[in-house]
Amino acid sequence: MSAHSVTLAATKSETRMADVQEARRVAEEAREKVWSGDSFMKDVFLGNFRMDLLERLSLDEPDRPEFLEFHRKLADFLQNEVDSVQIDATGEYPPEVIRGLAELGAFGMKIPKEYGGLGFTHPEYVRAMELVGAYDGNIVALLSAHQAIGVPQPVRLFGTEEQKKRFLPRCAKGAISAFALTEPAVGSDPARLATTAELSKDGKHYILNGQKLWCTNGTLAELIVVMARNPATKRINCLVVEMDWPGVTVDHRCHFMGLKALANGVISFDNVKVPLNNRIGKDGDGLKVALVTLNTGRLSLPAATSGSAKRYVEVVRKWSNARVQWGIPVGKHEVIAHKNAYILSSAFAMESLAYVVGELADRKDTDIRLEAAAAKEWNTVRGWKLSDETLQVRGGRGYETAASLKARGEPAIGIERLMRDSRINLIFEGSSEIMHLFIAREAVDKHLSVAGDLVDPNASIGKRLAALPKIIAFYAWWYPTRWLRWSLWPSFARYGKLGKHLRYASRASARLARQTFHGMARFGPGLERRQGFLFRIVDIGLEIFALAATVRHARKLQQDGNEAAAQAVDLADFFARQTRRRIDDLFHELWHNDDARATRVGLDLLAGKHTWLERGITPLPYSTEDLRPKTMDEILSEREQRKKEAASEQPAAADELHIAQSR
Ligand SMILES: Cc1cc2nc3c(=O)[nH]c(=O)nc-3n(C[C@H](O)[C@H](O)[C@H](O)COP(=O)(O)OP(=O)(O)OC[C@H]3O[C@@H](n4cnc5c(N)ncnc54)[C@H](O)[C@@H]3O)c2cc1C
Repeated sequence: MSAHSVTLAATKSETRMADVQEARRVAEEAREKVWSGDSFMKDVFLGNFRMDLLERLSLDEPDRPEFLEFHRKLADFLQNEVDSVQIDATGEYPPEVIRGLAELGAFGMKIPKEYGGLGFTHPEYVRAMELVGAYDGNIVALLSAHQAIGVPQPVRLFGTEEQKKRFLPRCAKGAISAFALTEPAVGSDPARLATTAELSKDGKHYILNGQKLWCTNGTLAELIVVMARNPATKRINCLVVEMDWPGVTVDHRCHFMGLKALANGVISFDNVKVPLNNRIGKDGDGLKVALVTLNTGRLSLPAATSGSAKRYVEVVRKWSNARVQWGIPVGKHEVIAHKNAYILSSAFAMESLAYVVGELADRKDTDIRLEAAAAKEWNTVRGWKLSDETLQVRGGRGYETAASLKARGEPAIGIERLMRDSRINLIFEGSSEIMHLFIAREAVDKHLSVAGDLVDPNASIGKRLAALPKIIAFYAWWYPTRWLRWSLWPSFARYGKLGKHLRYASRASARLARQTFHGMARFGPGLERRQGFLFRIVDIGLEIFALAATVRHARKLQQDGNEAAAQAVDLADFFARQTRRRIDDLFHELWHNDDARATRVGLDLLAGKHTWLERGITPLPYSTEDLRPKTMDEILSEREQRKKEAASEQPAAADELHIAQSR
């Protein structure tokens, strides 16, 4: 290697290090540092199994007549007016469906009544989205992108009274909105957001320039909330933009594996003038506004996936009875019975998580950022598995489209469509990996606040030594109490046969806290890069939450004397047994795994050591460099080039016209 290339490599790796540090700094800055209330999950990671936080929920079924009336009308509408097979085939929302939803008030479910919305509570919103989720993911995305992350949500959370009055009534009536954070070169990590919002010379507006990728509802929207950087301060602002303003263009409508009707677009901003009073939140707070919006807006997917899980339960119940092979209904063959049991108990757990988080969201004494992320993550991952198992139980019919089934005279049940539509749930509104990292950061927060200086790679020896007394004082009490708490552990006798599962969860929570601490002690500053370890820690936390929510839900049905209580307890018991096995496996895998080898093999792949395996197939016509998304500078300079070309073609075209006319 030449001296020049050595220097180049060093410079590149320094740049990468600077990028990594910058990404971390921006993420830390945008993080909510103050907890606005209790958090079940946060305590689980500290070894405190606070079942009391779930016990204070009523988990009552919403019963306001106004809501029940809406729910009934929505159910009728979905059943009679929405043809999901047609929506999937045409790839469009029929205008009458959008009109019908607007007439029902569905675009204003989360908007307070005083601003023209329906003012639903979160449990009510969850029930409505669950209903929609059993029908059509396209409609879930339309309603959710509009009001759970689109303009109404940040305006409700951070907007001024004037902004609320200006935007919310419009949005409630059906002026569709969208949310624009992602850019071609900026996905999970928003630190390098490159769309700019420069303050005009007279200081009256921002000049918005850039391009946003994959804006759901973007091709239908009247309003869009855009995250853009002020180049002077380098800080991000959150701006509400009218889609019909000069300079706003939908460059391309994107199409996907599922959600065929998604009105999703690439949207360009070319010197768009945005008045200052369209900025939501304080100057420079845009990333925080976006992330908090996502934190609290994540309730749609847990609810919608619970709805589709119930659809899977219905389908496998009917089909496994009806389909006879080898002399008996397929549902009586043991492995299919096992699959059905898994689908059924998972669906109950998914419902439990959706309902629990829905109610937590309305409590003033609770901070739901971790629980919302946990429910989003757990339900979307489990929902995807259920779609796969349901497809398998349906056999060939699971793989066949609803239209094809119908054309040859069979019921039009399109599991393949539900499956295609649900895959994106693991990617948008925070990908699975980012949800894990987000939860992991909060899981180790207490440890970082106590021992952060000790494990900070940039801290001086002096700083590390100075931190020692505080660290010793905290852990001298904390650590032994994660072991010696047998007498403190509640018996949960009132839960009957489910009590033992809560006792297990309580012990598992203390064990989780100890293992997290061991991870910090063993890996030090390197823990951050041990994603295998951290993700398992998070997975254990998620499973404990799912177990606790499911047991709590079953117990509630029992307390109410619900006629399904005995069955619910049985399902919760079965679910808890399976979950405990999974937790045990995860604990084992924390320290017995192939992580180091897997990392090495994965990095060998990047280094090109295994291109030999690609022999025998023809290569794609793209190099690694071709796959690098364009930077914003490249996108904007191409745009300028096109403008110049168009301008130089115009006079020529005008000349030709003139000549033609003079002839
Ligand atoms: C159908 C659809 C609708 C969408 N709607 C919207 C919308 O309305 N508004 C909007 O702003 N965006 C939207 N998005 C964008 C979506 O939020 C992003 O796709 C998502 O944030 C992931 O970003 P990415 O696709 O660029 O993946 P990348 O960030 O490029 O990541 C690639 C992979 O690496 C993983 N990864 C990334 N960083 C890490 C890390 N540090 N550790 C471990 N793994 C990591 C990711 O999880 C992913 O698996 C939409 C996307 C789609 C496909």
